[in-house]
Amino acid sequence: MTNTGRLIVLTGPSGVGKGTLLKQLLQHCPDLYLSISATTRPPRPGEIEGKQYYFLTKAQFQDRIDQDQLLEWAEYAGNFYGTLRDPVIQEVNQGHKVILEIELVGARQVRQKVPEAFQIFINPPSWSALETRIRGRGQDSETAIARRLDQAKVELAAADEFDFQLVNDDLDTALQELKAKVLSL
Ligand code: 5GP
Repeated sequence: MTNTGRLIVLTGPSGVGKGTLLKQLLQHCPDLYLSISATTRPPRPGEIEGKQYYFLTKAQFQDRIDQDQLLEWAEYAGNFYGTLRDPVIQEVNQGHKVILEIELVGARQVRQKVPEAFQIFINPPSWSALETRIRGRGQDSETAIARRLDQAKVELAAADEFDFQLVNDDLDTALQELKAKVLSL
């Protein structure tokens, strides 16, 4: 990958508000490109193919792995998620900042493959706030919630691996911090 643009990784436990922060960040930074991941997770109500994700069957996802089309991929809470390499490399080579919103295992793969990528971790204000948010989303089964809570503990323990951390307590404050950091890259 040439180094004209910049790859930015955004990681943080489920329920920490990554999606909301990212949506607002993209509105404030029109030059920032969001990578659309592939997943085998079924769409949630309101999710649109090609907008939030490319929704694939397990066989289709496996094909992408076999053909080495993924920059990184991971299994998360029973589903597969991955970043399609070509669109990301194209954007970076065109000089753009590209942001990947991915979980920990994928972030570690990117760290190996693209060491110059800048990695950001978003923390919740507290464990209980995170638990309330994960339970309160109301779109996931009890099993999925339990898996996300387990996974959140693992992710929080790895926060120090990241280049930059912030706490999403007050959304506006977190957004300003995130925006300042991304613009400085
Ligand atoms: P959700 O099912 O809530 O949309 O996403 C679950 C988790 O998968 C989140 O932590 C999200 O950041 C992560 N994720 C989304 N896309 C990717 C991807 O392409 N690769 C990896 N490794 N994780 C992803």
